[in-house]
Amino acid sequence: MTARILEGKVFAQAFREDAQKKAAALQEKYGVQPGLAVIIVGSNPASQVYVRNKHKSCEALGIYSEVIEMPETTTKDELIAKIDALNADVKIHGILVQLPLPEQIAAHESEILERIRPEKDVDGFHPVNVGRLVTGEPGLVPCTPFGCLRMLELAGIPIDGQRAVIIGRSNIVGKPMLHLLLGKNATVTICHSHTKDLPAITREADILVAAVGRPKFVTADMVKPGATVIDVGINRIAPKKLVGDVDFESVKEVAGAITPVPGGVGLLTVAMLMENVVRAAEMQLQA
Ligand code: NAD
Repeated sequence: MTARILEGKVFAQAFREDAQKKAAALQEKYGVQPGLAVIIVGSNPASQVYVRNKHKSCEALGIYSEVIEMPETTTKDELIAKIDALNADVKIHGILVQLPLPEQIAAHESEILERIRPEKDVDGFHPVNVGRLVTGEPGLVPCTPFGCLRMLELAGIPIDGQRAVIIGRSNIVGKPMLHLLLGKNATVTICHSHTKDLPAITREADILVAAVGRPKFVTADMVKPGATVIDVGINRIAPKKLVGDVDFESVKEVAGAITPVPGGVGLLTVAMLMENVVRAAEMQLQA
C-alpha cells in the first residue's frame, strides 16, 4: 500500500486563506492592518530570498510589511535600538530578526531575540512564549512545528491518545513539537543523538516527526505500518537537489501518510508566519 501524500501546498494555501480572512476581519472590526517587520543584517543571499518571500506573502494577504536592511557591520546596540523602535511602533504587530546574524553579533543572538516584546515575537523564540507553550497558555508558537500540528489536524490524522515520536530536540522544531503534541493528548517520546536503539522506539510511533538534519535518515524498517510520517528535514545533497530526513521512496510503501521533501513541511513555515502575525495583532488588540 502506498501512503497518502500530504502535499504542503494544499495545507499552506488553507493557512494563507485563514490568515487573509482574519486580517480582513481585524481591518473591519478595529480598522487595523496587521503588520510585520523583518530585520535583515548583512547580505546573506539565502536570507535575502527568505525575507523577500515573507514580504511578498504579506502583500498578497493584506498584511503590512516592512523590511529593514542593516549593514553587515551593525553592532549589537544598533540592532537592539532598532528592535526597541519597532517594539514601540503601533503599525508593527510582529517582529522577526532573520537568522543567521553576522559573526560579530552572533554570540549575542539570545539577548537580541529576547529584546523583542513577547507579544510581537512571531518566531515564538522568546522565553516568555516558550514558557506559555510549556504551560499550555496562549502565546506565539514557532512556525514550523505549529504548521506541522495544524497540518495533522486539517488532514484529520488522530492525535489524541496516539503514540508520537519526535527525532530531534532543537529549540525551534523538536521541543516545541513535543509540547504541541502533548497539548493535544498524544503520548510523546523525544529522541536525539544519544538515544539507544532508536528504531525500536520509532517503530512504536503512530505519528513520527523527523527533525534531524540528516539526509534519508529514517528508513522503512524504522516505521510502523500505517504510521503518519512528518519530514521536517531539508538537506541539500547537490546544488539543485534537496532531500528530507526520511527515505521517502521506501517509507511511503510502509507509512499511512507522509510529507514529501521538497513540497511538504517547508511550504508551511511562511504560511504559519502569516498566521502568527495575525494572531499577534489579535492578541495585542484584545489585550
Ligand atoms: P538541529 O541540528 O538543531 O537538531 C537536530 C537534532 O537531531 C538534534 O536534537 C540531535 O540530537 C538530533 N540528532 C542528530 N543526529 C541524530 C541521530 N543519529 N539520532 C537521533 N537524533 C539525532 O536541527 P533543527 O534546527 O531542528 O533542524 C532539523 C532539520 O529540519 C534540518 O534539516 C533543518 O534544515 C530542517 N528545518 C526545516 C524547517 C522547515 O521550514 N521545514 C524549519 C527548521 C528546520
